[in-house]
Amino acid sequence: MKNLLLLCLLLLVSPLKAEQNSIILISLDGFAAKYLDQYPAPTLKALAESGLIADSMQPVFPSKTFPNHYSIATGLYPAKHGIVENSVYDPEFQSVFKMNKPEEVTNPRWWLGEPIWVTAELQGVKAATYFYPGSEAAIKQTRPSYWQVYDGKIENIERVDSVLQWLDLPLQQRPNFITLYFSSVDDAGHRYGPNSAEVASAILDVDNAIAHLISGLKQRGLYDQVNLMITSDHGMAEVPAENSIVIDNFINFADIEQALLTSEIVSIFPKPGKTESLYQQLKQQLPAQATVYKKSELPARWQYKDSQRIAPLLVIPDSGWRLIKQQHQARWQTRKGEVTGNHGYDNAAADMQAIFIGHGPAFKAGSTIPSFINIQLYNLMCKILNINPAANDGDPAWADSVLDLN
Ligand code: AMP
Ligand code: ZN
Ligand code: ZN
Repeated sequence: MKNLLLLCLLLLVSPLKAEQNSIILISLDGFAAKYLDQYPAPTLKALAESGLIADSMQPVFPSKTFPNHYSIATGLYPAKHGIVENSVYDPEFQSVFKMNKPEEVTNPRWWLGEPIWVTAELQGVKAATYFYPGSEAAIKQTRPSYWQVYDGKIENIERVDSVLQWLDLPLQQRPNFITLYFSSVDDAGHRYGPNSAEVASAILDVDNAIAHLISGLKQRGLYDQVNLMITSDHGMAEVPAENSIVIDNFINFADIEQALLTSEIVSIFPKPGKTESLYQQLKQQLPAQATVYKKSELPARWQYKDSQRIAPLLVIPDSGWRLIKQQHQARWQTRKGEVTGNHGYDNAAADMQAIFIGHGPAFKAGSTIPSFINIQLYNLMCKILNINPAANDGDPAWADSVLDLN
């Protein structure tokens, strides 16, 4: 009897069983696939060698932060999950979603589909997010058990320490699915371009944060039991200052209901009856490095069509070019010779490719897999967590091909 009690107690405090089905999903914003060859990253490289690495991970179109994070979380293309851009206009709501508008970011009406932390919580698996797009909204009336309001100023090491504290919770309260998000590499890539000393140092910074996580896991005896999934949302392309196309010259603003202007995509919602004239005007006047598309003309491989939130007209520059407003033209002219970094372009472009490294009991040690698209990760995470996936665009057979089932 006493022995049985002891065994029960041991099972209750022992992390073993639960942790083997656990995931820490790490997102390194803007970490291009090519960076792994280009820059020192000792911890990431060691993880790749002793775990599984993909040749690259393809983002969904558009290769931007919010659409891609939410595709990883839901296994859905943006047209289905609703976050079709970093900023989204819905003609039915007649309002605009933006990442810095808390009243919209926390409003579940924007977030369609079922993100992995909701799938987990609904099936009794605790989730925790140290930042993740969507985690601040009660999607299907459900939030992660533990979550944070986004604050980019919090140091990377502090984020890791908070995650380690979650792992110190008693088993009943401990999350089995955790996210960690770092924006340093994206920030440096935008400001200085992907081929810069600043990107090299940002990579060392996130590499160091991951080393800190690993040493915390080792101290707790969890390193070989937790599944670490290192991802990025998209890559980064070098854009010279002179590769700037003034776009608002070519748009007749009197004829539009709403326009969302970013450097890599301009989404135009014309007033009724004005689509064709706006389209013809743009088609005739745009320089060769930018293309206007009717929604129906977009490449089918982008799967960027079946949503009222996708604009009837889109202007998209070639990779390596930016769209700017007239009011910023003079400033860009004074920066001739400088380069910056942008993303959002065609998800097949080499510069836009992201990374995936898996490490832990679910992943075959020392293996390399071919490139795959990020919507596949949702099924994989559900399998590892031992929960049933919601309907999604991924292929369940892909997840089986990656898992170490022995
Ligand atoms: P992008 O404009 O696509 O380069 O987006 C990157 C930026 O998104 C980061 O630098 C952050 O400022 C912001 N961001 C990332 N995650 C979140 C979040 N969960 N909530 C609000 N903003 C975020
Ligand atoms: Zn990003
Ligand atoms: Zn970015």
